[in-house]
Amino acid sequence: MNGQSTGSPANKIKVGILGATGAVGQRFVQLLADHPWFEIAALTASERSAGKTYAVACQWLLRGGMPGEVAAMELLPTEASAIPGEVRLLFSALPGSSAGPVEESLAAAGFGVCSNASAHRPDPDVPLLIPDVNPDHTLLIPTQQARRGWSGFIVTNPNCSSTHLVCALKPLQDAFGLAAVSVVTMQAISGAGYPGVASLDILDNVIPYIPGEEEKIESEPRKLLGTLVTDADGSRSVAMAEFKVSAQANRVAVRNGHLEAVSVKLARTAELDDVAAALAGYAGEPQRLNLPSAPYPAIILHSAPDRPQPRLDRLAGGGMPTHVGRLRSDPILDYKFLVLGHNTIRGAAGGAILNAELLCAQGYLTGGKGRLAPES
Ligand code: NAP
Repeated sequence: MNGQSTGSPANKIKVGILGATGAVGQRFVQLLADHPWFEIAALTASERSAGKTYAVACQWLLRGGMPGEVAAMELLPTEASAIPGEVRLLFSALPGSSAGPVEESLAAAGFGVCSNASAHRPDPDVPLLIPDVNPDHTLLIPTQQARRGWSGFIVTNPNCSSTHLVCALKPLQDAFGLAAVSVVTMQAISGAGYPGVASLDILDNVIPYIPGEEEKIESEPRKLLGTLVTDADGSRSVAMAEFKVSAQANRVAVRNGHLEAVSVKLARTAELDDVAAALAGYAGEPQRLNLPSAPYPAIILHSAPDRPQPRLDRLAGGGMPTHVGRLRSDPILDYKFLVLGHNTIRGAAGGAILNAELLCAQGYLTGGKGRLAPES
């Protein structure tokens, strides 16, 4: 963090992690252990793990060891009645198959839910949020609460590949407009959760299919880069951006870090130097507000011809920046480049935490614009 942030709460906000034992849940635990604004006060998992301590139920996969303060915490069932009332915000790392109704019942019970799961991303009244890209889309929250009668809310972050793709597309959309995007992904095995893909399937191999992934990468960027619209009745919605995305998703034998080969057609003619300057100079709301998890710079533009690489670059800036490299002209579309980003940090837990920091700075967690209880 660089200097003073805008929106720091007076006291740390107590948070819970849903699905805390999984690949993304562990990242949440790691990133929240020393967070300046948030304090872990509840951990949940499936019925298989509820009632056990975190140390017993969780096979810790990350470097640095399990943070001591969570090891003895008891895992709670993932339901509103089990979560202590002092908890205001829940980070969801639940599987997409079970997240939908569970997150709805928690929002109805008054919790703010920042979710990694895909279940609610397409909902017209649920923000699909990247603070660098569409910070104004949090204005969907009052519409969501009014329409559904909730005192809490759901905010989602995108698919891990969509996140880094859109972080790279945003400066290009702002400066030149986007007409078409083609992307071929090389996605790390941690993106499939734990234990994920069997070693005999992935070693010495590339798997050219990830169920549901291409559909997400082809639709989520259009909502993220869409325009917030205020309707006649005062409710808000998002008009999807009009450019098309074509995606091909592959699973590769890399532990962490998704690499994406991207080609773009711009709406307006642009010189290569101007495209490079737009990417390298981009700063969004996280940098303007100096949010605790904001990366500096937001985009790392590489000039070496063989970078970015997952093993060498994924942890730069704590895994929060998006890397762009090999920027060059494309003989079919206008420009092509490589994008790299950490999938379980910025592409999952770190992205959801940055969303929560934005919500906090905007007053949604401290009784400002939302209807969550003010801090006592
Ligand atoms: P994972 O490793 O399979 O972990 C799933 C977690 O959810 C575990 O804590 C598990 O607890 C718990 N769980 C399973 N079924 C449950 C149920 N019915 N009720 C309550 N808890 C349940 O999955 P993951 O990779 O962390 O992914 C979590 C979510 O993030 C998914 O929606 C995924 O699509 C999304 N996501 C993942 C990535 C990535 O790079 N991995 C990136 C972006 C988004 P037990 O230990 O008790 O089974």
